[in-house]
Amino acid sequence: LKAGDDLLVFNGVDGEWRVSVAEVLKKGVILRAEEQVRPQHHGPDLDLIVAVVKKARVETIVEKAAELGAKRIRLTITQRTNADRIRLDRLDAIAEEAAEQTGRLDVPTVDDPVKLDTILDGWDASRRLMFCDETGGAPVASAVIEPGSWAILIGPEGGFSPEERERLRALPFTTAVSLGPRILRADTAAIAAMTLWQAAVGDWER
Ligand code: SAH
Repeated sequence: LKAGDDLLVFNGVDGEWRVSVAEVLKKGVILRAEEQVRPQHHGPDLDLIVAVVKKARVETIVEKAAELGAKRIRLTITQRTNADRIRLDRLDAIAEEAAEQTGRLDVPTVDDPVKLDTILDGWDASRRLMFCDETGGAPVASAVIEPGSWAILIGPEGGFSPEERERLRALPFTTAVSLGPRILRADTAAIAAMTLWQAAVGDWER
């Protein structure tokens, strides 16, 4: 791009703007705001909580979560997590690029891995938790019916331990769901779960 060229920008707060390149500097550019093209829009209040799995799969999950409308991606460490090294800057870049390609006007945040127990200890009970339990649960379409703030929880390749499952199921904000009779890889499970959630209480009717 050179001085005078137009482009569209967003910052997650002020909507989408058509801007023009005013000046090209060595380490950046100065843009001139021309007009607002779209007002800020906020998607559904959906967090995806996912156990750390292999790097390539975490990257897929972050990209797909951004495309499918998640607002926040929280990485977690469970009892059976074999933590791979996480590069948050890379995940942020993936989330940003995926958000840009969808036309959404915000970028999902990606949080550093935190222990599952810590996440549950600090839970805001006004947010419901769709716990994807590979040992079985209710069908999403009949169990997830209340719109509002939700989180989806996906376990590691090793699955959840019996204690984790027991704790999760006893929490008042949890709905344990099944993703069908086949065990899915964590990345497939995350995509399937977000799709079902979107169809049930998300913004796909728009
Ligand atoms: N090793 C485990 C599978 C873990 S799959 C086993 O063999 O049982 C990784 C995660 O994906 C699970 O913890 C769960 O959150 C989700 N998942 C995969 N298949 C699922 C299913 N059929 N129903 C619900 N959740 C599922």
